[in-house]
Amino acid sequence: MKTAFHQRRRALVARLRESQLDSLLITSHANWYYLTGFTGDAGALVASRRGITLITDGRFTVQAREETPGIEIVLQKGSLFELVGQFLKKSAGKRVGFDPTQLTVAQLQSLRKAGGGGLSYTPITGAVEALRMRKDASELAQMRRAAILAGEVFSAALPLLKPGIREFEVGAEIEYQMRKRGASGPAFETIVAFGERGALPHARPTAKRLRKNELVVLDLGVILGHYCSDMTRTVHVGRASERIRTWYRAVLEAQRAAIAAVKSGVSCGTVDAAARQVLAGYHLDNLFVHSTGHGLGLEVHEDPRVARGQTKLLEPGNVITIEPGIYAEGIGGIRIEDDVVVHADRTEVLTRAPRDLIEL
Ligand code: ZN
Ligand code: ZN
Repeated sequence: MKTAFHQRRRALVARLRESQLDSLLITSHANWYYLTGFTGDAGALVASRRGITLITDGRFTVQAREETPGIEIVLQKGSLFELVGQFLKKSAGKRVGFDPTQLTVAQLQSLRKAGGGGLSYTPITGAVEALRMRKDASELAQMRRAAILAGEVFSAALPLLKPGIREFEVGAEIEYQMRKRGASGPAFETIVAFGERGALPHARPTAKRLRKNELVVLDLGVILGHYCSDMTRTVHVGRASERIRTWYRAVLEAQRAAIAAVKSGVSCGTVDAAARQVLAGYHLDNLFVHSTGHGLGLEVHEDPRVARGQTKLLEPGNVITIEPGIYAEGIGGIRIEDDVVVHADRTEVLTRAPRDLIEL
């Protein structure tokens, strides 16, 4: 793993040079892990052409030494951003990049105050995130395991779906099963939506009891070895009506079409359009109220966005979700979501769970 961290840091330095920056202040925990292996949750990382420095407090220094061999560690005493400002002032280079989507205005003010007038701060969004989009072989191996585990947890949850059970009971059991099978936790709060509650794409589990002849939407993902999975299945309790069957077929066809459109060199917008076009053929596109998918990795929502009009071209190593859905107020929702890897010459679906309509 040490070599992977090295390679990533080298790639980041090349990016800094292109952006004419001397250093980059990194405050995202996922980016810390990606570049160094550090899993603590307090401090700051400064990457410069000379090397990388982790500034963290006494709670994390022993851990940091173990997790990040070869990295300079500065012990923080007092205010973090004052110390970071002083450190930047002392270290070579005047042009400091920061991510405006991650650093607060107050933090930037502290830096400016401590660093004095000699430094210039330049906003640069997503410098590390751009590298994270291209997963290497070891990351893909981890994501395969995370996706398989999510599928196993889904299968374990199916027998619970009997009339009378409450949404939060199913949600709790799913998250318990994740941890029991080795996940460090859910990648996001598990969505369990019965009946008409499925019309809310991000329904939180409630005390609602399952009834016969209802749709059930389960959207779940694990964090395993730092990497996330994310999958959705919709099942029907009892025999589904003709209308539900048609809707389900439409969503499944839309998902298949979008997965078929995933190829290196194809734009994310084209993939999104493939799903939307199928639903339009069923006159259901007006019920598809979100984008087709998103990048996945150390975080559950990463670049690239698989949404309408996105011109970003897919590249080998990208991992994205494909998750079209339709939402009918008062009736329910149907969504099917899989995790997909872009390779140079093929597309790999990581999620292992049946996609045909399950009637319980
Ligand atoms: Zn999901
Ligand atoms: Zn998702």
